[in-house]
Amino acid sequence: MKVFNCPACRDTGWIKSIKNGREYFSECQCRKKEMNQRRLAFANIPAAFYSMRLNTFNTSVYKSEHSRIMIQLACKCIAEYLHDFDQEYRQGRGLYLFSEAKGSGKTRMAASIANELVDRGYQVKFALSAEIIQEIKRTWDRENNLSESSLLDQLQETEILIIDDFGTEQAAAWINEKFYQIINGRYVDRKVTIFTSNYSLMRLRYDDRITSRIEEVSYIIGFPEESVREQIAFEKNKEMLAKVERSSKG
Ligand SMILES: [Zn+2]
Repeated sequence: MKVFNCPACRDTGWIKSIKNGREYFSECQCRKKEMNQRRLAFANIPAAFYSMRLNTFNTSVYKSEHSRIMIQLACKCIAEYLHDFDQEYRQGRGLYLFSEAKGSGKTRMAASIANELVDRGYQVKFALSAEIIQEIKRTWDRENNLSESSLLDQLQETEILIIDDFGTEQAAAWINEKFYQIINGRYVDRKVTIFTSNYSLMRLRYDDRITSRIEEVSYIIGFPEESVREQIAFEKNKEMLAKVERSSKG
């Protein structure tokens, strides 16, 4: 007798039901779970950020009051964006999260958004800007099976693309050209792109064909000029110590 991993659907992924003499098929939980895992693997969100969501985004780690006001406003805008996301998605409207300060929470936020959208069933790809450049360079290698044009196609076709740390790579002419191809391709197809950057659009070292495309289809959201990396590490340590204390008492 065959043993099924999922007896409910006998590993077909679909559950049959009969209503008024007609057959209906609904997606089994096991298939939903598997699809979600595949989307997560494809998304390539850094492991440190797996559990992050917008509603667990900690705004109390910012020390200055101005930073806290700014981050709360940013959170509100992003919550609003995600609330109406189906509509934003159809229009291809993305986000541009920026602050000059590193460690101000932009990547953490972008990962939270990515997780949220993967949960909702969207195809998301999270990539460091510098990684995209590296991947393009790797396609020039003869032994690489992936051609440059198919890599660029992939980046253009992904439903939602998150480009983390945009603008820190050197702004060579060919890099400018490749990013224009990706960003313009996505613009024409109305695909959502989300950026994080240490540069305001004005200070970005790419030509205006790129910045004007981004400006046209993105909500620009400023992040606090404050690094909270140390504060987050400090709070994590505190949690850890509290756990150790609790377990040594119990
Ligand atoms: Zn099943």
